Amino acid sequence: MKTAFINSTVISGREDMAPISGMTVIVNDGIIQSMIKGGVPTADCRVIDLQGRYLMPGLINLHVHLPAGGKPKKKQTDVVKLVRFLMSTAPTRALTRQLCMNFAREELLSGVTTIRTVGGVGDTDTRLRDRIRSGKALGPRILAANTAVSVPGGHMAGSVAYPAASLGDAVDCVRRIEAEKTDLVKLMITGGVLDAKVRGEPGALKMPPEYVRACCEEAHSHGLPVAAHVESTEGLRVALENGVDTIEHGAPLDDELIALFQEKGAKVVCTISPALPYALFSPEEMNVSEDDQFNGRVVMEGVISCAKTALAHGIPVGMGTDTGCPYITHYDMWREVYYFQKYLHVSTAFALYTATCRNAEIAGLTETGTVEVGKCADLLVTEKNPLEDLTALRTPYLVMAQGQLAEHPGVKKYPEVEKALDRLL
Ligand SMILES: [Zn+2]
Repeated sequence: MKTAFINSTVISGREDMAPISGMTVIVNDGIIQSMIKGGVPTADCRVIDLQGRYLMPGLINLHVHLPAGGKPKKKQTDVVKLVRFLMSTAPTRALTRQLCMNFAREELLSGVTTIRTVGGVGDTDTRLRDRIRSGKALGPRILAANTAVSVPGGHMAGSVAYPAASLGDAVDCVRRIEAEKTDLVKLMITGGVLDAKVRGEPGALKMPPEYVRACCEEAHSHGLPVAAHVESTEGLRVALENGVDTIEHGAPLDDELIALFQEKGAKVVCTISPALPYALFSPEEMNVSEDDQFNGRVVMEGVISCAKTALAHGIPVGMGTDTGCPYITHYDMWREVYYFQKYLHVSTAFALYTATCRNAEIAGLTETGTVEVGKCADLLVTEKNPLEDLTALRTPYLVMAQGQLAEHPGVKKYPEVEKALDRLL
């Protein structure tokens, strides 16, 4: 059955997008079949009268960790122990998949029709991807990395990343990930905020350059792009010189790094959401030390400065939420779009273009990211015009993923997280 959206105001997702009112958009078999100004015969269609509401491409979240929901905890949990337990038996693995599926669905019901996972547990991400792809479950399109590769004592080692103890071990990890038919490989090259041992030194290099090179060569030989967690200038140099395709997070760029980005055709995935609470909430509220907060500020400034410099030099910049970090839920992609506009001083149109069309390009997807004839029907409808106010994205009116309608979008939110994050608007 075809679906006809009548009386819609279309926002294409292209860089030069402007709202076009009075449009009829017909979806057939998951694909946008036609877009016509005014009314057309819709006798063979399910008709949805949008009454002037805004129809735009579904959002794309390029940086997702599915196993955690972002609810802040009073006490730090031992995630390595937790993951070991979750992966220990068939029933706990099934439970983990269910948990991750619920989070993936939260992404969808908040307007995100594609996610790219960058560190999960076992092969959960590819399994969910395939379930959704085969129509057995409703969820967003998933580009899956499964478990990332780190080193002993490195970022997320033993939880959402393998601790590779040698070069051979690192390559074996990549081969194992390839065998699971992932869409990309994720490396943890530097530490993160909470891995820092010294004030002022977050993002210390953890993975030796020769591991990075060997992993990138192995992944590329199977046609898989490599995304890497990098939070320092030194880490950026190692990543770019050795073949990483997308820098996740980032750090301040110098002229040499700008030239390296351009020479290699590498891209940045900006994540402002996880940096803000560490940097701007009180250490007590975040349950971290003052040194951690100091380092959080260094990372926040690095992430913002990296994206700004990259944009100024024509280096593609995408965005993702880093969902799973404290305060970063699966329903708050709209906040990342909002922060992108606010902290990088770009227009709302450019922020929306980045969250849709540009993110699709960075992820290597040609079938989604814009509202155009021939593209997948990955659609988000809002009551108000997001080009005027990005908070219009906060409560979607309707979501469609590859032609499947999520009739009642909206998710159960954590009120304390909402309250805390709204201070940043
Ligand atoms: Zn991450």
